[in-house]
Amino acid sequence: MSDPKRPTRPPKGQRPTHHLRILEKVWVTKDMVRIVAGGDEFSDILHNECTDAYVKLLFSHDGTPLTEPIDAEALRKERPAEEWPITRTYTLRQVDKEAQTLTIDLVTHGEAGVAGPWAKSCKVGDMVQFVGPGGAYYPRPETRWHAFVGDASALPAIARSLEALPKDASGVALIEANSEEERIPLAHPEGVEIIWLEGNTGTGRTEEDILLLSNALAEAIERQLSADPELTVADIAVFAHGEREAMKPIRKLASRLELPKENLSLSGYWAYGRIEQEFQAEKKLEIGKV
Ligand SMILES: Cc1cc2nc3c(=O)[nH]c(=O)nc-3n(C[C@H](O)[C@H](O)[C@H](O)COP(=O)(O)OP(=O)(O)OC[C@H]3O[C@@H](n4cnc5c(N)ncnc54)[C@H](O)[C@@H]3O)c2cc1C
Repeated sequence: MSDPKRPTRPPKGQRPTHHLRILEKVWVTKDMVRIVAGGDEFSDILHNECTDAYVKLLFSHDGTPLTEPIDAEALRKERPAEEWPITRTYTLRQVDKEAQTLTIDLVTHGEAGVAGPWAKSCKVGDMVQFVGPGGAYYPRPETRWHAFVGDASALPAIARSLEALPKDASGVALIEANSEEERIPLAHPEGVEIIWLEGNTGTGRTEEDILLLSNALAEAIERQLSADPELTVADIAVFAHGEREAMKPIRKLASRLELPKENLSLSGYWAYGRIEQEFQAEKKLEIGKV
């Protein structure tokens, strides 16, 4: 989705590693940790206005937390690939320029992984290192009806996008949650309906779970088009981010509806059964395309 608020990225070779400290840690739900980070280097970060702005958190090559400051780009230039830091991608849920802090909400998703377990065990005072932010999306003012679609990993980007909408915006947010407890309060314009869908992003995820979001989106669009005869597909914008397999049928739905390309922001945030390195590597293969 092209947008004037797209970030200007420094060229490769000039992307600094940022080093902040955790100032606050809160459990938002039993499966989501919020960290608020800040420090002297906050002012060096090249922020952008995208509501899906994201950073690449850095961990050492064996997945353990970094305790000393690193320069990720220099390491990539100077050290063999097996010593490069591991990255994990996270949305900036909030950037508070006055307080000079940024907030990240991390899904912990069981015992597996690097960032999830780190989120559980990290403490106030620990170092957070990252490169970025990047980003690509900002709600377009010409959209008459917005649809936000995703699982808990996309909840930070959806929540931030809802907060950026004009007061008179209308639309729907369809969010997959594994339990009642994941249904956190969201600030949103009155005309945007929040619909929580019971799914399963963990062990035992089924074909039905994979189709949950696309089926709900198809129904919501159909409902809206028949309720408002003046609304056309060209007035609708869809922001759908989340588990890769759940995003694929949304691409099919968008082409069936002939949703204009610029009205669709579609992105796989993770893939069931894959660690992030595998998920990123598969983007070059047929299976990795959403
Ligand atoms: C642009 C972008 C923004 C993102 N923003 C956020 C964000 O704000 N908050 C957030 O929590 N995630 C976000 N994600 C997703 C996050 O990067 C992945 O979930 C990542 O794989 C987590 O790393 P890990 O080390 O915990 O698990 P990994 O080591 O990558 O994976 C270990 C295992 O856990 C599974 N797994 C990974 N993530 C999940 C999940 N969310 N639910 C269930 N199982 C999972 C994998 O399939 C794998 O089997 C974002 C991704 C992208 C691309």
